[in-house]
Amino acid sequence: MNNSYQVIIIGAGAAGLMCAITAAKNGKKVLLLDHANKIGKKILMSGGGRCNFTNYSIEPENFLCSNPHFCKSALSRYTQWEFIELVEQYSIDYYDKGLGQLFCRQSSKQIRNMLVSECEKYEAFIQLETKVLSIAVNSNSQFNLMTNLGEYSADSLVIATGGLSIPTMGATSFGYEIAKQFGHTVFPTRPALTPLTFDRKWLQKTSTLPGNSILVEVSCDEQIFREALLFTHKGLSGPAILQISNYWQPGQSISINLLPDLDILNWLETNKKERPDINLKTLLASQFSQSVSEFFCDQLKLNNKLKQLEKNELEKISNFLSSWVLFPAGYEGYKVAEVTMGGIDTDQISSKTFESTQQKGLFFIGEVLDVTGHLGGYNFQWAWASGNAAGNAV
Ligand SMILES: Cc1cc2nc3c(=O)[nH]c(=O)nc-3n(C[C@H](O)[C@H](O)[C@H](O)COP(=O)(O)OP(=O)(O)OC[C@H]3O[C@@H](n4cnc5c(N)ncnc54)[C@H](O)[C@@H]3O)c2cc1C
Repeated sequence: MNNSYQVIIIGAGAAGLMCAITAAKNGKKVLLLDHANKIGKKILMSGGGRCNFTNYSIEPENFLCSNPHFCKSALSRYTQWEFIELVEQYSIDYYDKGLGQLFCRQSSKQIRNMLVSECEKYEAFIQLETKVLSIAVNSNSQFNLMTNLGEYSADSLVIATGGLSIPTMGATSFGYEIAKQFGHTVFPTRPALTPLTFDRKWLQKTSTLPGNSILVEVSCDEQIFREALLFTHKGLSGPAILQISNYWQPGQSISINLLPDLDILNWLETNKKERPDINLKTLLASQFSQSVSEFFCDQLKLNNKLKQLEKNELEKISNFLSSWVLFPAGYEGYKVAEVTMGGIDTDQISSKTFESTQQKGLFFIGEVLDVTGHLGGYNFQWAWASGNAAGNAV
């Protein structure tokens, strides 16, 4: 058959592109297939159009997986420094946006184009608008793929079809279905790195707040993140909330320190001494916007002059501001979630090669696996690292 390759990769996203480059660089005849009409759509839309392509600090603790050791091997064999070197070879200007998060100064397109150029350089062939209709293993242990554009065969097959986030960008459950076909366990999935919603009562209460952003420390399930929180028309968003959404489960509360840089009780007592005649709302407005200050005073049911506030009231305000407890109603969903939590159980995948323990020659990489990174370039680093590991093993 003409359409015979050593390696076929399904999914021309971050992980698939890296895998194709690595395998082709090693001299393999590679075909990279995607059903979409564009290569790397999520790379293009990532990081607000500037692709947060990695982070200066990559640790296994930045990833969630049922087996916390699974990601270690790949991450240590293809590090952020190797990806940064590639970015520098292409003279792509980048900057640290804070917390080690590296973004393109100009456009995500540069990262996508760099990966496509690498594919061209090593002659990995990319074919778009290809729908895989079925996959079977023939008597020579090769994979036979039936597609809308004909039949293909390969010695190794890599599934890099990502998670379920942003279905309008081409996300499908294809990878999970193939995993099940070959006897893999697939854990339940849910949206992650996603805004959280309020119920109707809380939406009414917070109706004056959308658009307000506050630097906070948010905690849940023994995890704590210090980043910005944003009030929205549906509930809460901003990096702090996206981060905690990886840990929050429906029914749980989240706790928010609204003034993480202050010793709040001391600040209240000092102000009471120095500015006894101002009222609480005015004091809070030195830290928050007018609407947020009013909202918190309403929640506290206090807006006295500072000199009228007793010690126990100052303590109540301090406790409220340092650990505001909220019960979100749910996740905003796959339409806006950056990633998918859950997926293919890593117990049936080699952490060195990403080969399936159920089917020789079959590999799974990237977000389709039960590995989810924190916000900050971690999910792309996982795609690069797992793609590279599989690319070296095929
Ligand atoms: C809005 C947004 C912003 C993000 N920003 C960042 C960021 O700045 N930094 C960061 O680290 N992470 C970011 N992420 C997460 C990151 O994009 C993903 O974790 C990463 O792209 C996963 O790589 P992947 O290759 O596994 O999957 P993807 O990049 O999603 O690629 C999967 C590919 O498979 C194709 N595919 C799917 N189903 C089929 C099928 N049935 N047949 C053929 N092809 C198929 C898709 O078209 C797609 O091209 C962002 C995500 C979103 C949604």
